[in-house]
Amino acid sequence: QNVPVVTIDGPSGSGKGTLCQKLAEHYQWHLLDSGAIYRVLALAALHHDVALDNEDALSLLAAHLDVSFKASEKGTLVILEGEDVSFEIRKETVGNAASKVAAFPRVREALLRRQRAFRQTPGLIADGRDMGTVIFVDAPAKIFLEASAAERAQRRYNQLQEKGFNVSFEHLLSEIEERDQRDRNRTVAPLVPAQDALVIDSTSLSIEEVVKLSIEFIDNKL
Ligand code: C5P
Repeated sequence: QNVPVVTIDGPSGSGKGTLCQKLAEHYQWHLLDSGAIYRVLALAALHHDVALDNEDALSLLAAHLDVSFKASEKGTLVILEGEDVSFEIRKETVGNAASKVAAFPRVREALLRRQRAFRQTPGLIADGRDMGTVIFVDAPAKIFLEASAAERAQRRYNQLQEKGFNVSFEHLLSEIEERDQRDRNRTVAPLVPAQDALVIDSTSLSIEEVVKLSIEFIDNKL
């Protein structure tokens, strides 16, 4: 594969989403939000009454998942079975359910090719947990973006407030810690930096600083 990929992995709330959007704009490349795929799968499971611990049923659902992404003025819309679920999948309950279904090896396997298909000219920015370690192992530039749990909870809190969701900070922090724990300790594709990744701690950096560091690193690698 000659199409270049930049992988951005890290825990939720580290600023990956924003960084990836800025990088996709800067390079005019495609963008893969792999977390959205796991979120859509979790939502489909909730809609179809599939238990979140039933690996057989979940991997079948994953293999047949009818999900698509559509560009719009409001950003990328996420479509599940013809329905716009962009708003619904951002709920914390869905994020939590996503992290449960994502722990199953056969679920991840079923979503592998779908994610690799995003690698198209002129290039791809891939956002997730295992982009550099599993999905695009040969990516020329890999970044792992971190931030303290408290900082990430604060950012998520502000984000949710802006979107009109009412949540408690304490609750959010404990959910983030629980989700991190599950993502880091699972046996398949655990959340760890790739050996060749640049690790950036964004706790006390602005978005602009993170973008600048990333572009310098990527330009050097391409
Ligand atoms: O990034 P986001 O918060 O949207 O991801 C939701 C959940 O999906 C994560 O907590 C993680 O468990 C799972 N995920 C994953 N692998 C990815 C992307 C997301 O396991 N590449």
